[in-house]
Order: sequence, then structure tokens, then C-alpha cells
Amino acid sequence: MPGYIVKDEKTKNPVLLDLRELDIKYRIPVSRIEKFYQALDQGIIMGTKCPVCGARFFPPQAWCSDCGYSGEMEFYPLDTHGHLMTFTKIFAKPKSFSSFGDYTVGIAHLDKEDLNILAWIDESIQKPEVGMETVIKVEKRKEDGATVYFIASP
Ligand SMILES: [Zn+2]
Repeated sequence: MPGYIVKDEKTKNPVLLDLRELDIKYRIPVSRIEKFYQALDQGIIMGTKCPVCGARFFPPQAWCSDCGYSGEMEFYPLDTHGHLMTFTKIFAKPKSFSSFGDYTVGIAHLDKEDLNILAWIDESIQKPEVGMETVIKVEKRKEDGATVYFIASP
């Protein structure tokens, strides 16, 4: 196995430093949450709601983990107004984002939905602060053209 035993800088414990590169391609079945991606292309962020117990989910779930209902979930557009709960700047990026500049991710609480959403923080927020008002906006990411949602300034 290609690799070396080195001392971890923080803990000084021996760790195996594996020099192989790891590429991962995801194939995630989305047939029951495809509406989420269709709406995202229209600029709308959808959550799912259980028609039996009313539990709401984001990211959308294809079944209800609260009551166990496994039939069709209801899709509804989220009210994305809320506030920033936490954030951090990413300097050490995963390989899939290695060609991107440094970026900031955060968790926003959507007040009316009582849901949290993890996303990159948009350029409209130059100095993120915990508690600041936010909305979620959908855009094409400039680096790769993917349709993604960002935490943004209202
Ligand atoms: Zn339910």
C-alpha cells in the first residue's frame, strides 16, 4: 500500500498518510425528489411536507422520518427569509473545489419554516455576522455553471 506513517501535527499521534488520490462520482437516485431540482432550475427552493403529520424537511425527503409515512410527500416553496446562525471560511478545499477561490459556507435559519439550510455565502455578504438577516437565492455558480443556492443579503 502506498503510504507513510507520519506524526499528526496537532496530536503527535502516528497517522497513515496515504498518497493515493481519490475520485468520487455520485449516482444518487432522485426520482422521488426530482421536483426539487426542476424547481431549482426555475429559481425556487422547495422543501417537502408530510401530508400525514405535517413535518417539514429541507433538504427534501422522499419519506417522513418523523411518522414513517412513505407515500408521496408534498412539495412547497420555502420562505427563505431568516438569519445567519454560523459561518466559516474554507481555505483547505476538497479536490472537487480545488480550482475555486476560497469560499465561505454558513448555516441560515429560515424563520417561518423553522428549518436550517447549509449553503455557500454569496458575494452580497462581504462581512458575515452571526444573527444578520439573510435570504436564500438561486444562481448559476460562476466557477462551473451549476445551479446552486446561496445564503445572501436580503
Ligand atoms: Zn409524517
